[in-house]
Amino acid sequence: MTMSDNIPSTLIQAPLHVAESSALEWDEHCDVLIIGWGAAGACAALEARANGADVLIADRFTGGGASAMSGGVVYAGGGTRHQQAAGFSDTPEAMFDYLKHETQGVISDETLRRFCDESVSNLDWLENHGASYAHQMPPGGKTSYPSDGYFLYYSGNELVPEHGGPLPPAPRGHRTVGKGQCGAVLYSHLKAACLRAGARSLLQAAAKRLVVDAQGRVIGAELWCLPPDSPQAKLHARLAARAERLQNFAPGYCRNLRKRICQLERDFARPRLVHARNGVILSTGGFIFNRELIKQHAPKFQRNFKVGTAGCDGSGLRLGASVGGQGVGLERVSAWRFINPPYSWHKGIVVNREGQRFCN
Ligand SMILES: Cc1cc2nc3c(=O)[nH]c(=O)nc-3n(C[C@H](O)[C@H](O)[C@H](O)COP(=O)(O)OP(=O)(O)OC[C@H]3O[C@@H](n4cnc5c(N)ncnc54)[C@H](O)[C@@H]3O)c2cc1C
Repeated sequence: MTMSDNIPSTLIQAPLHVAESSALEWDEHCDVLIIGWGAAGACAALEARANGADVLIADRFTGGGASAMSGGVVYAGGGTRHQQAAGFSDTPEAMFDYLKHETQGVISDETLRRFCDESVSNLDWLENHGASYAHQMPPGGKTSYPSDGYFLYYSGNELVPEHGGPLPPAPRGHRTVGKGQCGAVLYSHLKAACLRAGARSLLQAAAKRLVVDAQGRVIGAELWCLPPDSPQAKLHARLAARAERLQNFAPGYCRNLRKRICQLERDFARPRLVHARNGVILSTGGFIFNRELIKQHAPKFQRNFKVGTAGCDGSGLRLGASVGGQGVGLERVSAWRFINPPYSWHKGIVVNREGQRFCN
């Protein structure tokens, strides 16, 4: 798939076909290559390392992605120790019932069941890798995001009476302990855990095409890397940080910054071929900054406020599609609207201009 010039996205190329891995002069080898070092890539790296794989994680920027700009809130329940410390007796069944009502078939029962059944152990897993959570709840019940000092809250619509089950509604938003928006804190723990575990990293390295052998197996990728510590690499990092910081205030300016980022990559990045003996994981995040993909899959969201980082251009989707992968659920976009005051949210309904109810 190619992108038209006016869209500042990574240009993804058709896969490189080789008869077998020995037919290429590789620059680097690993067991598992992970493309994209946000929270998903970091978790995959930790699991791969725990299973003894030699892991290389590549990121187009310096890692973090949307994960590091997020609120760092992990939706967890079913009886986490923090819920218990706050006096709530949640169960995986109650969590499943609530989420099934809330998600209305967006995900399969099987996946949802596993998410709920494994929720307590998943939060433990994060804590074992350095992130911490706590049980202090903000006063007043519902809030959009807890202020500093509070870490457990109703991050969904659990307080809406219609969602009530036999148990009292349980708060499940577990904000990573830290100050301000805590995604950066959560990500810093995951990143440190990856490095402690011995995962290797390649930064400012954008994957542009996959390498496929005669059996159709993906055996590596071509990464376009900026020279480390070069003035261009430093400028690239600065432009990306600025585009992220100012997106909400000056979206047009930030679009130009993203164009300059692509131009720097085109002018100064050099290819490195990485051989992955046991597989390539694509974890490059979302696609909100790829106008063509949004138009194609989620046209209703074209005019929405865009939140994400410059890396959210659907690179992983396009790389996957280049070797026959099929995206599913791409029309499901998360869009937010904060309505004040939050503590009234679950007591009312939202109506449209005709006075018709469209949301609790
Ligand atoms: C403002 C904000 C607040 C949020 N708050 C929450 C919250 O509190 N709780 C919650 O659960 N969710 C939250 N979310 C959603 C959540 O942050 C994302 O769903 C999640 O971070 C996605 O993680 P990821 O690892 O898949 O992608 P990302 O974290 O975006 O990581 C993808 C990485 O891939 C890299 N990459 C992209 N293309 C390439 C390429 N071609 N080659 C190499 N690398 C590439 C990027 O540079 C990036 O580092 C929030 C999102 C935003 C924007």
